[in-house]
Amino acid sequence: MNMLDSELVVASLRKDGYELTNSVREADTILYNTCSVRQHAEDKIYSALGRLKNLKRRHPDKVIGVLGCMAQKDQGLIFQRAPYVDLIVGPGQLHQVPALVREIQQQGGQRMEVSLGRKEGTRVEIERSHESFDPLRDPTMRPTPFQAYVRIMIGCDKFCTYCIVPSVRGPEQSRPPADILAEGRQLAGEGCREITLLGQTVNSYRYPNGERTWRLSDLLEGLHAIDGIERIKFVTNYPKDMTDGLLSAVRDLPKCSKYLHVPVQSGANTVL
Ligand code: SF4
Repeated sequence: MNMLDSELVVASLRKDGYELTNSVREADTILYNTCSVRQHAEDKIYSALGRLKNLKRRHPDKVIGVLGCMAQKDQGLIFQRAPYVDLIVGPGQLHQVPALVREIQQQGGQRMEVSLGRKEGTRVEIERSHESFDPLRDPTMRPTPFQAYVRIMIGCDKFCTYCIVPSVRGPEQSRPPADILAEGRQLAGEGCREITLLGQTVNSYRYPNGERTWRLSDLLEGLHAIDGIERIKFVTNYPKDMTDGLLSAVRDLPKCSKYLHVPVQSGANTVL
């Protein structure tokens, strides 16, 4: 999910004339797309930010930003721990990054855009605050032109005891099937051969459409019919939401990988 988010942020910045560099010294803007699943990942980001402190003092025009789940979780705490950070953007607002960077460059000051917490409004208000990030795909941003991730849902409602995802990525929301199939056709037209569908609990996908409710198996059938797409995968599954229809689709559709990713997380009752 984070790889896709990064791809889309970079693609949108490239539309503003940005180019990627591997050197923080050369960069006008330094963005960390973060993960909150484990403490160690967060510690690494705070260390990385610490290493930028002197650079920012010498080059105050550089824009430093923290994006993604840690931005949503820690919010203003990041400004407290690293006051030279300019930008904090949660996973539900990533499409705003280019405009926010521009604002900081033109007007200075700090900006923070995050979604509502799970107890900070009605479900509809919280869902809306996780603004969707409909991809401005840029084929050159993918590690390979032949493979692409396609987001079919955001958020999670499972609340496993050890997991931060439902708090930082918000309520489970499925994307309209027509948008997903259109993205599949676009990717096929760009030469993409393999699509991996993404969702925190990808097999929980559910989209009521008139009298019919679309499930993941329906999406697989729709994508399977697209010329050019040769292989379809999906990650990651929530065991309780597996359906016979999905298993049949994987069995019967030749383009579907005969592969089910099911996270065990930890097999130890004491840990769980
Ligand atoms: S289903 Fe996955 S993403 Fe959702 S709370 Fe459990 S571990 Fe986290």
